[in-house]
Amino acid sequence: MDYQVVIIGAGPAGLFAAMHLAQQGVSPVLLLEQGPDLSDRHRDQPGGILCGWGGAGAYSDGKLILSPEVGGFLGDLLPLDELNTLIQEVDYTYQTLGASPDLYGGDQDAIELLKARARHAGLIFIPTRLRHIGTENCRSLLQNIRDQLQGRVEIRTLCRAQHILRESSAAWRIGLDTGETIRAEYVVAAPGRSGSVWIREEARRLGIPSVPSPVDIGVRVEVPAEILAPLCEALYEVKLIYYSRTFDDKVRTFCMNPNGEVVLENYNGLVTVNGHSYSLQKTENSNFAILVSSFFTEPFDDPISYGQYIARLANLLGRGVIVQRLGDLQAGRRTTPVRLERCLTRPTLKAAVPGDLSFALPYRHLTDILEMIEAIDTLAPGINSRHTLLYGVEVKFYSQRLKLTPDLETPLRNLFVIGDGAGITRGLIQASVSGVMAAGAIAKRQHKSEVHEEQFTD
Ligand SMILES: Cc1cc2nc3c(=O)[nH]c(=O)nc-3n(C[C@H](O)[C@H](O)[C@H](O)COP(=O)(O)OP(=O)(O)OC[C@H]3O[C@@H](n4cnc5c(N)ncnc54)[C@H](O)[C@@H]3O)c2cc1C
Repeated sequence: MDYQVVIIGAGPAGLFAAMHLAQQGVSPVLLLEQGPDLSDRHRDQPGGILCGWGGAGAYSDGKLILSPEVGGFLGDLLPLDELNTLIQEVDYTYQTLGASPDLYGGDQDAIELLKARARHAGLIFIPTRLRHIGTENCRSLLQNIRDQLQGRVEIRTLCRAQHILRESSAAWRIGLDTGETIRAEYVVAAPGRSGSVWIREEARRLGIPSVPSPVDIGVRVEVPAEILAPLCEALYEVKLIYYSRTFDDKVRTFCMNPNGEVVLENYNGLVTVNGHSYSLQKTENSNFAILVSSFFTEPFDDPISYGQYIARLANLLGRGVIVQRLGDLQAGRRTTPVRLERCLTRPTLKAAVPGDLSFALPYRHLTDILEMIEAIDTLAPGINSRHTLLYGVEVKFYSQRLKLTPDLETPLRNLFVIGDGAGITRGLIQASVSGVMAAGAIAKRQHKSEVHEEQFTD
């Protein structure tokens, strides 16, 4: 074997797997990343937001969600107390790497009050505990991980795994884009959302069963910060779920950024919208997403293509991301540059083109979003204002959910798939936990086989 373990992808899942393997003394380990190393990484490069050292986490807002119900489905594979212990372990590591010790979401009185008010408005409030790293601090945190791994794990950036191939019943070969082939006893694939199409194809070829995930499509809502302040001050982020009157669809708020900014996200040329906030640098606006979840069964079961199609349509109309005043959308007219100029909410994303979202979003999604805005207005009066800005489209592509054991091993021995790419996580904390889970299982198996070998030699 060339390596004991090959890890594919240097996002939070792959990095935590690498750190845990190094701590457990498993070696040699190779970490492959298709994007650039941290020092060469810029968000304006093609794929710059999602690929490179740190993965999609590098330019993220750095909200570490510590509640097990949010940010992934690891709770379906592990008992809740075990998952909570792993979340605490990973949270502690983040703090030693530089995450702030401040914790939001622990104010029980504020939670109970909001729960009752949300119910009254037809909304379900999901309490979450979280730590906020802040976009500007993510880089130094990732540098600290880089320093920890230097010399303990071999790191190859700008190197793409093309194929995962079977060497024997318990060993693997990885075909690289350099034409090289490497052999390893274990493979831990952590390709994230940017590698979701790649891992889907590899899983299909290797015969690993999977189930499709939903696609979440919606808009980014931007309002003056004082409108969301009553919700954000105590809890930082408020997660709300709404089942729409007209369609009974699940609609939810996502990624709230107090005093943050709206940003572009580029998925291989497809431009969508997102949001983040700095820890110190504050804007006068706050933003969050409203997303509608759609499942497809048959004859169509390709949610990723559906989401891409809608995003492509918005890009066609707006040559990128569209921004519209809520008042214009409700009145059935386009927002023009002149109308945007009259808007009391000043857009933080200057690159968005004033337009008409009703040409891009299906009636179903528009109806769901408008209904939810009405409902949230009860909790945060001023959201349902004609001066609220809507940016579109925001799309969350989730990977197919692969069939995995509680150790995150596929039905094929010694092949593990972790993080967002496996369709089992959706956030930094659970992605990191998944890395620890797979690495822990490998280290245990390695130590067992070493003891077995020693006994045999004796
Ligand atoms: C703008 C933005 C903001 C976000 N904000 C938050 C937040 O505040 N809080 C939160 O919890 N989550 C947030 N998220 C989500 C979070 O970043 C992801 O859940 C997390 O990064 C997933 O980790 P991962 O390691 O599974 O995948 P990723 O972070 O996507 O990393 C996967 C890596 O694998 C590499 N790769 C893929 N295929 C290959 C291949 N074939 N060969 C080699 N390398 C490959 C990719 O280049 C990438 O670097 C945000 C995401 C985005 C995009």
